[in-house]
Amino acid sequence: MGVFQYPKGLHRRRLQPFPYKNYKSFKRVLQHEFVRVCVYCRTPDSVSPGEYYSFAVDHYRPKVVPKFKDLETNYRNLYYCCGPCNSRKNDYWPADERLGPFVVNPCEHDMAAHLRLNAATFEYESRTPDGAHMIRLLQLNEPDIVGYRRRVVETIELANLRRIELNKKLAEAKKKFSKGLLTAAELANVEAIFARSMSTVLDIIQCNDGTKAPRPLPRTVK
Ligand SMILES: [Zn+2]
Repeated sequence: MGVFQYPKGLHRRRLQPFPYKNYKSFKRVLQHEFVRVCVYCRTPDSVSPGEYYSFAVDHYRPKVVPKFKDLETNYRNLYYCCGPCNSRKNDYWPADERLGPFVVNPCEHDMAAHLRLNAATFEYESRTPDGAHMIRLLQLNEPDIVGYRRRVVETIELANLRRIELNKKLAEAKKKFSKGLLTAAELANVEAIFARSMSTVLDIIQCNDGTKAPRPLPRTVK
């Protein structure tokens, strides 16, 4: 699935954390559970160092609503969420649950049925009233965040072009070496540059699309 795309179907929770008394203790587990992206705006936490610390644990059913008080440390009510979405969603819950509108989440809603990314403008488009509500409430098309999405996608594309270029340079050097046009030391030099640059390029791609492995989970998680 591409960066900033909403998932199709429902996410089934795969981790079983220790029943912590403080909901904040679930954060690292939630980062793994939701593959290090904000469940609401799909922003990865890996684009810049330390972003994990600006992410939060969201109570989907707000803990301030009396009937949801017991869900404060219930893992199934907790979601991994970026700082802006967390503060904009805040304690939102529909006044009438029969009418909505809801903020959709990946465990209870097929998010792709509600929202889609316009690949040309990098804005999100709504497919349902819930999707439209979510775009308004979480300000998903704020110009700064739209520009950010564009930069992230463009960075990945540039890194992929660089990857192709590096592979081509290495192949050319190997060909020259086989024809006796390059010494073994010269080829070794090209290979060393290739290894270093390629490792950085892959790191750029993985940090931007969120596929870079996060820090390991605590041992209390099955
Ligand atoms: Zn977010």
